[in-house]
Amino acid sequence: MTAGRPASSDPRSVRLGALRDALATADLDALLVSSLASIRWLTGFSGSSGLVVATAKELVLLTDFRYATQVESEVGGAARVVIVSQSLWTALWEVLGGMSTVQRVGFESMHLLHRDFQRLLEQGGRWQWRPTTDVLELLRERKDATEVAAIRRAIGMAEQALAVVLESLAPGLTETQVAGRLEAALRDAGSEGFPFPSIVASGERSALPHARAGDRRLAVGDLVLLDFGAIADGYCSDITRTVVLGRASPEQVDVYEIVREANARAAAAVRPGMRGMDADAVAREYIDARGFGEAFGHSLGHGIGLEVHEGPRLARTADGVLPPGAVVTIEPGIYRPGWGGIRIEDDVLLTEEGSVVLSGFRRDLLEIA
Ligand code: ZN
Ligand code: ZN
Repeated sequence: MTAGRPASSDPRSVRLGALRDALATADLDALLVSSLASIRWLTGFSGSSGLVVATAKELVLLTDFRYATQVESEVGGAARVVIVSQSLWTALWEVLGGMSTVQRVGFESMHLLHRDFQRLLEQGGRWQWRPTTDVLELLRERKDATEVAAIRRAIGMAEQALAVVLESLAPGLTETQVAGRLEAALRDAGSEGFPFPSIVASGERSALPHARAGDRRLAVGDLVLLDFGAIADGYCSDITRTVVLGRASPEQVDVYEIVREANARAAAAVRPGMRGMDADAVAREYIDARGFGEAFGHSLGHGIGLEVHEGPRLARTADGVLPPGAVVTIEPGIYRPGWGGIRIEDDVLLTEEGSVVLSGFRRDLLEIA
């Protein structure tokens, strides 16, 4: 295996090929990658400090001595690794200086700190720096089989944890305690961490679409919304279920059924080639027709992968076309201040033929005795 390039059987080899095409399209000789998720996607390196220089020919990963051992096992020969003893930036000038044909270098304007941009101008004056957006993010939208398998594992862990926590849900527990049990169960199921602080929102607090768990105690009759995920090999899952503690009221049942139907319709309709806004409209028009349009105040969904919120977006304003291979969430909700909120979120793989719902946890309204 040649250091600096993944072996041809390695999924990273396909990714480097896709990047090579993107560099040619953008008329760049190299791309300076500072997004840690994209660095991981390209090289396998999961450390928290590093830079990658990607050219049509090779990947160079710069990181510091703390990661020397980790980099060897994660990256292997897929990139030329430079272990830096002082500044990543000093090492960067040396690496770039050794690439005689490189002149136009893209940088990720969404991920480069302004302080570091100033370094490019002050110390990197030999090169022409070009701002780019979403070069790697767009490539990362299409998951390969390895990535889908990791996401499937992360979904399995989340569903296993949900089953455990629903068993122990009881009046008197605070939302934070429930979140703690949920996160313990996620760890127990093998999750490497949490893509975001798990949301447990009960009673009228469930009407806050981005509530964190708080000190409110669960009471009989509450809607309890749980939104959380697991991480497997760096890949995230993201699911939401809403249950009722005790017997559901007829109104809770009615609103729940509307959300469930919106979720089912959107999950069945979403497919590659469709724009994100068209997928969003499937759920939104249904909820609107049932009289709750104003109560669905957020987007239908987002891509998941190495980051829990990534492309493609499924939103009213998303005119991007959904690619095959993307894994997206479908998460319609209805939020009524003072009453509560209901959201049902699933993870869906877009295939050449249509879509496959990867998360299988039951979606009927659960009344937790
Ligand atoms: Zn979620
Ligand atoms: Zn989500």
